[in-house]
Amino acid sequence: MPTAICPECDEEVYVEADAEQGDKANCEECGSDLLVVGLDPIELDLKTDLEDDELKDEDEDYDPYD
Ligand SMILES: [Zn+2]
Repeated sequence: MPTAICPECDEEVYVEADAEQGDKANCEECGSDLLVVGLDPIELDLKTDLEDDELKDEDEDYDPYD
C-alpha cells in the first residue's frame, strides 16, 4: 500500500493503491479527514481546505457529508 505524509501531523498515512485525485483518506494518527491532491508522489491535504475551491468544479459528485 502506498503511503503519503499527513499535512496535519507529518505521520505516514496509508492510501489505497488505486487512489485517484480527490479520493478521501484518513489519518489514523491524528484522525484528520484528508483528500488526495496529487498522485506522483501521493500528496494529501486537509479535506476542509479544499471544499470550497479546487474540488468543487472538478468533481460534481463530491459529497462532503458522505
Ligand atoms: Zn495526521
